[in-house]
Amino acid sequence: MKQEGGRSFRFYEAQMDEQIEECRALTGELRGALERREFILHFQPLVSARAATIEGFEVLLRWQHPTRGLVPPDEFIPLAEQSGAIIPLGQWVIREACRIAAAWPSKLTVAVNLSPIQFRHSDVVAIVRDALQESGLAAERLELEITESVFLEATQEILDILRTLRGMGVSLSLDDFGTGYSSLSYLRRAPFTKIKIDRNFVRDLPDAKTDVAIVRAVVQLGTSLGMTVTAEGVETLAQQTCLAEQGCHQFQGYLYSRPVPADEAEALIRKPRLN
Ligand code: C2E
Ligand code: CA
Ligand code: CA
Ligand code: CA
Repeated sequence: MKQEGGRSFRFYEAQMDEQIEECRALTGELRGALERREFILHFQPLVSARAATIEGFEVLLRWQHPTRGLVPPDEFIPLAEQSGAIIPLGQWVIREACRIAAAWPSKLTVAVNLSPIQFRHSDVVAIVRDALQESGLAAERLELEITESVFLEATQEILDILRTLRGMGVSLSLDDFGTGYSSLSYLRRAPFTKIKIDRNFVRDLPDAKTDVAIVRAVVQLGTSLGMTVTAEGVETLAQQTCLAEQGCHQFQGYLYSRPVPADEAEALIRKPRLN
C-alpha cells in the first residue's frame, strides 16, 4: 500500500512538473503574441428579455496560437496577469472593441472585460478616454465588466477610478455576481449600472427552486437600485422562460449565439430576432 501511495505521489509530482513547464512555455509564447497579431476578439450578443433583439455584445478575447490552435482565455489570461502581459493586451482589447463597435448601429453597446491588474498597474481612465476619442464611440455605448476581485486591494482608489469612469458616461457591470463573498457591499459603494448573474445560478433552472429564488431576489435588488440585470449562460428555452418570469432584463448564452468573430456579429445585427 505504502509503496503504491509513493508511486502515485511520484506520478502526481511528475504531472505537476509538466503543468508548471507548460505554463512557463505558454507565458514565453505570450510575449510578442500581440505584435504577431495572434489575438482576435469574439462577440457574444446581449439580448433583450422583452423582444429577443440584440442590445449589445460582450467582447471575449481569443488567442489563435500558431501550433496549439485556439487557446481559451481561462488558460492564458491568468498567465498574462502574472507576467504583466495583460497591460498592453488589455489596452489593445479596449481600443479594438471601441473601433469595431463604432461601426455598429448606434443603439448597440459593447462590453469589455477588465482585469484587476489593469486597474492596479495602468491608467484605465486615460486608456478608456483615448480609445473613445480615437474611435469616436460614445461613452454611453461602452460597458466595462468587472468582478469583485478588483476590490481586494486599494479599495478606495478603485472606487475613485470607477466613479471617474461612470462620470465620463461609461457603464459598469458587476460580473459573475453571486460567486464572491461580498458582492453586496460593493454594489452599495460602487456606481454599477448592471449586475450579471453568474451562470452557476442559471444552469439548473427551472428545476432548482433555490436558484429560482436567488435569481428572483437578485432581480428585485438590481431593479430597485435602477440597474439592469443580465443572466449569463442561458442555453435552453426553459431557462429563458424561467428567467423572464423572475423579471430578468437581459440574456446572454448559447441559446442565442456562441461568441463569434466580428463579421458574424454584424450578420447577427441584421437579424430581427435571435430565437
Ligand atoms: P466571463 O466574463 O464570465 O465570460 C463569459 C464566458 O461564458 C465566456 O467564456 C463565454 O464564452 C461563456 N459562455 C457564454 N454563454 C455561455 C453558455 O450559454 N454556456 C456556457 N457554458 N458558457 C457560456 P470565455 O470566452 O471562455 O471566457 C472566459 C473568461 O475569460 C471570461 O469569463 C472572462 O473572465 C475572461 N475573459 C475573456 N475575454 C477577456 C478579456 O478581454 N479580458 C479579460 N481580462 N478577461 C477576459
Ligand atoms: Ca464578462
Ligand atoms: Ca461572467
Ligand atoms: Ca467568469
